[in-house]
Amino acid sequence: MRETADDLVLVINSGSSSIKYQLLDPESGAVTASGMVERIGEENGGIEHRADGKTTEHRAAIADHTAGLRLVFDTFAETGHDLADAGVRAVGHRVVHGGEVFYRPTLIDDDVVAAIADLSSLAPLHNPANVAGIESARELLPDVPQVAVFDTAFFHGLPDAAKTYAIDAKVAAAHGIRKYGFHGTSHEYVSGQVAELLGRDPADLNQIIFHLGNGASASAIRGGQPIDTTMGLTPLEGLVMGTRSGDLDPGIIAHLMRSAHLSIDQVDTLLNRDSGIKGLSGVNDFRELQRLIETGDAAAELAYNVYIHRLRRYLGAYLIDLGGVDAITFTAGVGENSPQVRADALANLSPFGIEVDPTTNTAKDRTARRISPPDAEVAVLVVPTNEELAIARAAHQVAETA
Ligand code: ADP
Repeated sequence: MRETADDLVLVINSGSSSIKYQLLDPESGAVTASGMVERIGEENGGIEHRADGKTTEHRAAIADHTAGLRLVFDTFAETGHDLADAGVRAVGHRVVHGGEVFYRPTLIDDDVVAAIADLSSLAPLHNPANVAGIESARELLPDVPQVAVFDTAFFHGLPDAAKTYAIDAKVAAAHGIRKYGFHGTSHEYVSGQVAELLGRDPADLNQIIFHLGNGASASAIRGGQPIDTTMGLTPLEGLVMGTRSGDLDPGIIAHLMRSAHLSIDQVDTLLNRDSGIKGLSGVNDFRELQRLIETGDAAAELAYNVYIHRLRRYLGAYLIDLGGVDAITFTAGVGENSPQVRADALANLSPFGIEVDPTTNTAKDRTARRISPPDAEVAVLVVPTNEELAIARAAHQVAETA
C-alpha cells in the first residue's frame, strides 16, 4: 500500500460563492480532510473543515476566492496537514463547461485558463467561479500540476441525432448550441462501478443511470459510451430538479416575456432557482417534500408526481434508444437515499423485466448494491457516486503523464 503524502490529490469544486474541497488518496479513496468555504463575498462567510474525525469552523468576511482558498490553506495548517509541505501530487479542479474545446482531463496552463474563461457565455454562473478557483490555487501552489476535469467531457461524443437541436443550423453553429450534458464525471464513474459490481465488461452493457441530487440528470450508456443524456446546452434541460424546471415548452419563455413582462434575467432566475420541486411545493429539499406529502399537502404531492412522471418518460425513451437495458442505476442524494422514488420510478414495469425488491430497496445499506430480485432480467442498482474520487484519479493520471 502506498503511504507517501506525495500521492494525495487536492480536489477543488469552486462555485459562485463557495469552495468545496477534499484532500484524498486517488487509489484508495481515503479522505485526509474535506470541507467547504461558504458565502464568499459576504460579511458572514466561513469555513467548515473536517480532518481526523474533528470539525473546525471559522467565521469571517471572505472577500473573494483567493481569500477563501487562503483560509482553506490556513485551516489545513492549523489542523496539522500543511498543504505547502504535504507534497500534494496534483490539484484537480471540477470545471462545469468544457464546450467543444475540452473533452478530457486537461493540464492547466495560461491558455487553458483563458479558454475556460472564454466558455463563460455557455455557463455564466459556473465557469467564472471555476476560473477564480483555478487562479487562486495556482497562486498558492505554484509548483503543483493543476488539472481541469470537465462536467461535460463524458458526453462530448454523443451521436449527432441526440446532440442536435432542431433550430436553424447556422444560428446553432454560430452560438455553440448543442446538447453538451453535465454530471459527466458522475455518470462515467457510476457506470464503471456498475460494470464492476455485476462482474461484466462495460463494453457488453446497456445502462440507464439516474443521477438524482439537487440537480438531476439521466443518461443512456451503450458499451461504456453515452448515447443520450437529459441535460443540454445548460443544466436546465431534462428532469425536474430541486429548483430547476427541466423540460418545458420553449414558447413559455416568450410568453412570460410578453405577458408577464419578465426580463431575460428574471426568466433565467425563475427557471433555474424558483422552479422544479421548489416552484411547485415551496421546498427544494426532497426530505422536506416527503414530510409535506405525509401531512397531506396537495402541492407537494403534485410536485412529486410531476417529478416521477418526468423520470419515467426518460426511462421509456432510453429503453427504446438502447433497444433493451441490462442495468438501471440510481445515484446522488435522492437516488441513493429515497426508496420511494426508486420504487415509484420503476413501478409496474415487470413486463419489461424491470422489478424492485421491496426488502433490499428499503434496507438501511449505504454501499453499492442490487435492489432487483436475483432472477430479474434487468439489474436495478443503487451506487453511491463519488465525483471527488473520479476527479482525483483523473488529475493524478494527468500529473503522472505530464
Ligand atoms: P447536489 O446536487 O447538491 O450534490 P446531493 O446529491 O447531495 O445534491 O442531493 C441533495 C438532495 O438529496 C436533497 O434534495 C436532499 O433532500 C436529498 N436527500 C438526502 N438524503 C435524503 C434522504 N434520506 N431521503 C430523501 N432525500 C434525501
